[in-house]
Amino acid sequence: MTRKLVAGNWKMHGTKADLSQIAALATAHPAPRIDILICPPATLLAQAAGLAADSAVMIGAQDCHAAASGAHTGDISAPMLADAGAGAVILGHSERREHHHENNELVAEKARAAHAAGLIAVICLGETLAQREAAQTLEVIAAQLHASVPDGSTATNTVIAYEPVWAIGTGLTPTDAQIAEVHGLIRSLLAERLGGAAATALRLLYGGSVKPANAAGIFAIADVDGALVGGASLKAEDFSPIIMTL
Ligand code: 13P
Repeated sequence: MTRKLVAGNWKMHGTKADLSQIAALATAHPAPRIDILICPPATLLAQAAGLAADSAVMIGAQDCHAAASGAHTGDISAPMLADAGAGAVILGHSERREHHHENNELVAEKARAAHAAGLIAVICLGETLAQREAAQTLEVIAAQLHASVPDGSTATNTVIAYEPVWAIGTGLTPTDAQIAEVHGLIRSLLAERLGGAAATALRLLYGGSVKPANAAGIFAIADVDGALVGGASLKAEDFSPIIMTL
């Protein structure tokens, strides 16, 4: 059976002083039953990867450029992330789709670049509140999945995170049935795309206001293979209990 995964997205939080949180996690979970991923800001990647080397904590990035190198001021390529010690990269987060106008096609290009650099692409999907209220959730997720997940995706190089936009940082979470419905859809669409075995093994994370208090309930939902955690990943004392829940 594929190992579950709990991933932390630090977003634009963290300075060198916060590297101690990664050291604390590595010490607290020397031989976890699940995979642990922390995605700090790019400025901390190399140091974080150094700290986490020889531990069970994998370090990842939060975005990459689709090109391997070139005249792209301010951008960072997937090979550069790998060189800094990252093993994964979050792509297509709703904050990037919204604030950086990233569309599905760009997310797929970035995922291809991540795969070529040997990184796990953590591809994010999610509907807005308006889309949910208009009963468009399933079609939005299906369209995002279809166009954001490139050919060549496997259970080894790709993770899908379902993050309803309205649940991110709000304290709101979908009902268990709503999460199960979307994860079930993603699993069945992946089966059509990649075949049943790959679709079963590919990890589907839920993200959006995951906390120690609700983690057990969320992990018990069908087709949930872990979580992508924002705010509650910043401090080891909040993130550790979520890891322990799985
Ligand atoms: P919160 O856990 O803070 O709601 O953030 C979720 C998220 O966006 C993770 O990528």
